[in-house]
Amino acid sequence: MRVGQGWDLHLLTAGRPLILGGLPIPADSGCLAHSDGDVLIHALIDALLGALALGDIGDHFPPSDPRYRDISSVILLKQVMEEVRDRGYGVVNVDCTVILESPRLTGYKAAIARNLEALLGLAAGTVSVKAKTAEGTGPVGAGKAAEAKAVVLLDRS
Ligand code: MG
Repeated sequence: MRVGQGWDLHLLTAGRPLILGGLPIPADSGCLAHSDGDVLIHALIDALLGALALGDIGDHFPPSDPRYRDISSVILLKQVMEEVRDRGYGVVNVDCTVILESPRLTGYKAAIARNLEALLGLAAGTVSVKAKTAEGTGPVGAGKAAEAKAVVLLDRS
């Protein structure tokens, strides 16, 4: 068994789509990023890479590389998942938390989890997505940023 954790934070800016776990979420602002800014998938990628001590998302997909400009993070996630499988591992479970002040994600978290399961080819109930606010504190609480955390457990498949 191998365990990995990931964390990410992006500034929010008006006029960008908010994409979480590959799903567009209706919002006034979205994540500022070189890619599509899917903060949840970025945390998940770092957890997958971390579980196998393969570095971090910046090592694999450098922001300086024009190939990754505005790229869907779903594509990056699929590449990383392929690498996990190539090394003989499968996902036991994934547990994620998104911290965002607005919009409230209560109505979206199940759909995001099911979407991640579909993207990763995992059974229903393998991925958990939880949603929190920062209770008005700090940059996340002020609506200036979105944050995500992820933990994954892998085993030899
Ligand atoms: Mg990121």
